[in-house]
Amino acid sequence: MSQEMIKVEKLNKSFGDLHVLKDIDMSVRESEVVCLIGASGSGKSTLLRCLNFLELKDNGKVVFEGEEVNQDTHDLNKIRQKVGMVFQHFYLFPHMTVLENVMEAPVHVKRVPKAEARKNAKELLKKVGLAEKEDVYPSKLSGGQKQRVAIARALAMKPDIMLFDEPTSALDPELVGEVLATMKELALEGMTMVVVTHEMGFAREVGDRVVYMHDGKIVEEGYPKEMFTNPKQQRTKEFLDSVL
Ligand code: ADP
Ligand code: MG
Repeated sequence: MSQEMIKVEKLNKSFGDLHVLKDIDMSVRESEVVCLIGASGSGKSTLLRCLNFLELKDNGKVVFEGEEVNQDTHDLNKIRQKVGMVFQHFYLFPHMTVLENVMEAPVHVKRVPKAEARKNAKELLKKVGLAEKEDVYPSKLSGGQKQRVAIARALAMKPDIMLFDEPTSALDPELVGEVLATMKELALEGMTMVVVTHEMGFAREVGDRVVYMHDGKIVEEGYPKEMFTNPKQQRTKEFLDSVL
């Protein structure tokens, strides 16, 4: 049984009167790939953002690598460095080359020597299949290529866990596959991942576990194949019928 990487207990989050996360219990073990699914507005992004403290919980517990994180006293930037995040939109720096984009955070946040950061960035670009694009500016890349740069950039900080928030939702259909393939490779290398996605094929093939959210609650979780073929809750069944 591998170790718990991140865990939340009775997590609650509201925006004003809107109660978005309701007593969420979830844990992710080392090397596990958890796919988070659910309709738009169900709270998936908010949950993901609470996992790297882009949003701060109202109450409940967040335990990172065995240690409960107190958001008032912990250095949250230190923790964020260990949690890579990839968004639907890529937010690459437009005035920097691909290589510079990947080197930026290690050099300026972690103070990694430039030569070392460059070497590491080149390796990562090779890994995501973009070695020839290192001197190109983001505007010259396709959406799929930009997203692969964004993945390389997140990996450059050597995170312990990677969070993906609908990484392929903004892509033209023909570009989705190359990004999912990159993510699958990462999963096979043992990266711990939480992936918000509507790609049920990816969840089935790569996910170790699927978590279905509805209206701020976790309705059901289980092994992808089991849950997709035999959901226990009527709500889950209705959702899956609408997307599968
Ligand atoms: P999902 O990712 O599943 O679509 P979100 O977590 O983005 O859901 O949003 C859940 C609910 O919280 C939605 O009703 C959304 O409008 C609301 N919400 C999200 N972020 C904020 C915010 N910063 N301020 C106010 N409301 C928000
Ligand atoms: Mg979302």
